[in-house]
Amino acid sequence: MSAVTESSVVEAVTKELFIGGKWTPAGSGATFPVSDPATGAVLCEVADASAADGLAALDAAVSAQADWAAHPPRERGEILRRAYDALLARQEELALLMTLEMGKPLAESRGEVAYAAEFFRWFAEEAVRIDGGYAVAPNGTGRFLVTKQPVGPSLLITPWNFPMAMGTRKIGPAVAAGCTMVVKPAEQTPLSMLALAQILADAGLPDGVLNVITTSDAGGVMEPVIRDGRARKLSFTGSTAVGRLLLEQCADKVLRTSMELGGNAPFLVFDDADLDAAVEGAMQAKMRNIGEACTAANRFYVQRGIADEFARRLTERMSALPIGRGTEDGVVVGPLIDSAAVAKVDELVEDAARRGAEVLTGGATVDGPGNFYQPTVLTRVPADARLSREEIFGPVAPISVFDTEDEALAAANDTEYGLVGYVYTNDVKRALRVSERLETGMVGLNQGIVSNPAAPFGGVKQSGLGREGGTVGIEEFLETKYVAVSL
Ligand code: ADP
Repeated sequence: MSAVTESSVVEAVTKELFIGGKWTPAGSGATFPVSDPATGAVLCEVADASAADGLAALDAAVSAQADWAAHPPRERGEILRRAYDALLARQEELALLMTLEMGKPLAESRGEVAYAAEFFRWFAEEAVRIDGGYAVAPNGTGRFLVTKQPVGPSLLITPWNFPMAMGTRKIGPAVAAGCTMVVKPAEQTPLSMLALAQILADAGLPDGVLNVITTSDAGGVMEPVIRDGRARKLSFTGSTAVGRLLLEQCADKVLRTSMELGGNAPFLVFDDADLDAAVEGAMQAKMRNIGEACTAANRFYVQRGIADEFARRLTERMSALPIGRGTEDGVVVGPLIDSAAVAKVDELVEDAARRGAEVLTGGATVDGPGNFYQPTVLTRVPADARLSREEIFGPVAPISVFDTEDEALAAANDTEYGLVGYVYTNDVKRALRVSERLETGMVGLNQGIVSNPAAPFGGVKQSGLGREGGTVGIEEFLETKYVAVSL
């Protein structure tokens, strides 16, 4: 294999639309730039699809649907399994590509490629486990035959923070279930998805099953595709604001939806917790992906007895983190995705400070090129600070102190979001009590990372609808068909 260099990995990607198994430029010939968030330099240009291109991709998905649904489940699984092997074999070049377009440190990009691949392995195994049923009707004469069928052509919209894993988490179950699809990656990070499309094609995915459109006009391209009505499903990962808009668009033709939306994760540390483990978990829950994750700990609530010590240790760890371009050795904190993200984080920190929060470390942007923000710890954060309500999506850890379990739970649940909560305690009864009372789809119990392809990921309240991964993940792409049988 030739050496993996920055230019070689960018060059290796076909920067066109992938429609019906063919690479094609945008109908208008337009392109848009993809930049390195660590330097601001343009990496390359990719095809800029219009609504007509989006509809052409939908045509391809619709044409391929019937044959694909009839494709043997075992073979569908084996395509995913081959793609899993290919992802791991090419982990190094794909990680570099991801770091270049998204900014996260190389070690995290390698981790994401492995995590992304794992969804393909998991759903390769699930493809052959789609079940059904046969039962006697209560009156004893009729029979119920129940089977599962693919939902049909599906639209998959993915975000920039996990450019590959958020794709495989949707593509894996769609392929396994027998759905064709149109995928629209985020405009900031299209390259990982384009590379993935080629890997799936090489793994034997038939033409038209996966179509990828890149565009700088997500709304203008996707709305007509959604409203067309031939797609039967939309799976979206992104902000709650866009999710809400897409739900409205889907209502028109009653598309099924899966929505992985924003989060505002509380991180509760009780006096009886293992403090070393809590600080370690806090670092993971806060700093994975530079804080740019919907699962990121957004609010730390620490019981009074250990609050000062927790803040001291977290500050020590946060202030020691090396900041830099994700390609550099030892860097832990890469750039945020764009200058707007930096401005938003800075605004939230300033707002908290104005309302009385104390900045223990960080609290400022980093001079020079790129979109860097210092790892930041705040204490005495008041409940009315904006960052108690809004997703920070950056390396900022706000700490508040509580006295009682009830108080902690009330604060934790005082949000429209409900994706994940983290709980650190060594009291087993409290652990289960608090886990049950947290209004979230997921809980990290003495654990700072919950994501796992074999587990059901998703939120309640305005964090979304549906679950991805686990044994339920494939259900999002299946319909239940009931046949009433007369004997
Ligand atoms: P973020 O604010 O983190 O970028 P978004 O929700 O804006 O999150 O983006 C997530 C995904 O949704 C991206 O692929 C983006 O292009 C897409 N998107 C944004 N706005 C729309 C829209 N109006 N219609 C369809 N997709 C959209």
